[in-house]
Amino acid sequence: MTETHCPYCSLQCGMRLTGRRVPEVSAWEEFPVNQGALCRKGWSAAGLYGGRERLTSPLVRDRATGEWTAVSWDDALSRVAAGIRSAQARGGPDAVAVFGGGGLTNEKAYSLGKLARVALGTSQIDYNGRWCMSSAASAGIRALGVDRGLPFPLSDVEEADVLVLVGSNLAETMPPAARHLDRLRERGGRVVVIDPRRTPTADRADLHLQPVPGTDLALALGVLHLLVASESVDEAYLAARTTGWPEVRESVASWWPERVERVSGIDASQVRALASMLAGSPRVMVLTARGAEQHSSGTDTVLGWINVALALGMLGRRGAGYGCLTGQGNGQGGREHGQKADQLPGYRRLDDPAARAHVAGVWGVEPESLPGPGRSAYELLDALGTEAGPSAMLVFGSNIVVSAPHATHVTGRLESLDLLVVCDFVMSETAAMADVVLPVTQWAEETGTMTNLEGRVILRQQAITPPAGVRSDLDVIADLAARLCSPVDFATDPEEVFTELGRASAGGAADYSSITYDRIRAEHGVFWGGERLFGSRFAHPDGRARMLAVEHRGAAEQPCADYPVHLTTGRVLAQYQSGAQTRRVRSLPDPGPFVEVHPLLAGRLGVTDGATVRVTTRRGSMTAPARVVATIRPDTVFVPFHWVGANRLTNDALDPASKMPELKVCAAHLSVVEEVARRPSHAPVVHA
Ligand code: SF4
Repeated sequence: MTETHCPYCSLQCGMRLTGRRVPEVSAWEEFPVNQGALCRKGWSAAGLYGGRERLTSPLVRDRATGEWTAVSWDDALSRVAAGIRSAQARGGPDAVAVFGGGGLTNEKAYSLGKLARVALGTSQIDYNGRWCMSSAASAGIRALGVDRGLPFPLSDVEEADVLVLVGSNLAETMPPAARHLDRLRERGGRVVVIDPRRTPTADRADLHLQPVPGTDLALALGVLHLLVASESVDEAYLAARTTGWPEVRESVASWWPERVERVSGIDASQVRALASMLAGSPRVMVLTARGAEQHSSGTDTVLGWINVALALGMLGRRGAGYGCLTGQGNGQGGREHGQKADQLPGYRRLDDPAARAHVAGVWGVEPESLPGPGRSAYELLDALGTEAGPSAMLVFGSNIVVSAPHATHVTGRLESLDLLVVCDFVMSETAAMADVVLPVTQWAEETGTMTNLEGRVILRQQAITPPAGVRSDLDVIADLAARLCSPVDFATDPEEVFTELGRASAGGAADYSSITYDRIRAEHGVFWGGERLFGSRFAHPDGRARMLAVEHRGAAEQPCADYPVHLTTGRVLAQYQSGAQTRRVRSLPDPGPFVEVHPLLAGRLGVTDGATVRVTTRRGSMTAPARVVATIRPDTVFVPFHWVGANRLTNDALDPASKMPELKVCAAHLSVVEEVARRPSHAPVVHA
């Protein structure tokens, strides 16, 4: 029996596994985050094994015929190394790109960054987490001096008097966390959900506000305006612990509730109801998630909500404050140890001479040999195959074809590469485009650390024997580095890599140097930086939080005559991210994509429940069955992004600070492709 963690989301629920080839999942009640509870994805995680689709041999694709041929590891890695050498001989070190993922273990993320900077010498590395939490990360660093998703244990949520969830549907995306909402309400606390859809999370709320997608910041500004007007801000706290309050106070002066109503579609009385709920509550907690963050103004939106929490004096108070609910399994750790374009391990900046010297010392190379910052994820993909961009790319733990915004364009860029190498355990949509696919171990077949949404470093332990023919990502990275005549060696044992990561991160913002595998086992995970942050000081050198005045900009693309509705995207309970894993678990429902449409909009367009509709944006179109639901705004349609299609539509407009694409809103056109047979069009079915 092995104590380990779920392969999916950032809650990283603890679970026990038994069996040596196909594991059986059972509850691990002692692990504090989920106390034995799992969602259906976790309970069915063993379904990842035993499928016929598992890759067990390296494959190379003949571009002329599209045929795949199984080859030896030596042959496959020789081809990859030769392709890299050839690309760099023609285009220099930056001709090769590396693309990582927020699901990779800390050890893999660290080794991938080292591979890029030391063995390849390229600046062109970034990862799909850029599309997940980067706006919250950038806001956290600016305002608080550090980026840790939740600066407190998740269980603190129960102690809040008012919990404000901005763009989070945690009851569906991480169901075991929803029990904290129930306990909070049993204590007499109240829950506010801000979401254009009435989700299962909103069903648990005392107040649900349904803004126009992309207007969460206007609401934050309006709430702060009312808190100032009612003299509910904590002036003593602001004076002692923050800078910038006078400018922020000035910036919200004109955000009266009626203006918020005009911008956001939220009734002014509801804006007042929210502000009065917050005013005078001893413990207010604000948590943001992708709904608020995946916008071209995501950083400012998060800053706006941090300002609300700071103005109330909540940060550093137990059962209160601000946090970001991270998404991917290692969304937190994946952004701390060097696979980001601008970053070295320990959340160090690549353009900081002291950071370069420290990490270069650990790696045994000269600081001057490390390349500078490269392109962010979407900018990198956009540059592939162009004259100035990389001509070869290595992908680890990412299914770009499904998850990238403006996916048709990105797919074209991938096609233009001279060499695409994908490490995966199944033939994902991205692997299917590769020249070389390398089959790697996954989840229960390997050991490594992840950092959950609380900043708790946990240990996924190997529970089963991998199939013959697959190798670990660490092994692949080390072998490739050696073939490329790397000046230094790469460890392949995860614990050894973690120890090196600890040394590289020592003294950085995310310092793992005191964390060991033994401590993680003994303590049920170890929080980096301590269990609770900001009790007496923030992470800026003067210990004060920065309040930054921000202005509402709205979505980059507004509805117009040709594209008259808002499109928003999101997740469903039984699927995870691009679906590369969960769509292959047979016991999980896989209904395919669908389009949620409000009955008013459906009636106007003649859309009946189940009819095939086409959603078109300036970037592409997709067809899917309509679900006529009263739970969405009448001016907005929703498509889940776990299947190919949704991201052909999404907007690649980037947040200037975080480089987050505007995945959560764009302008769209909806039309009926095919009516439903056997149902009269005048009798639409409306889902509750
Ligand atoms: S998917 Fe998330 S919430 Fe569900 S069991 Fe896994 S870690 Fe827990």
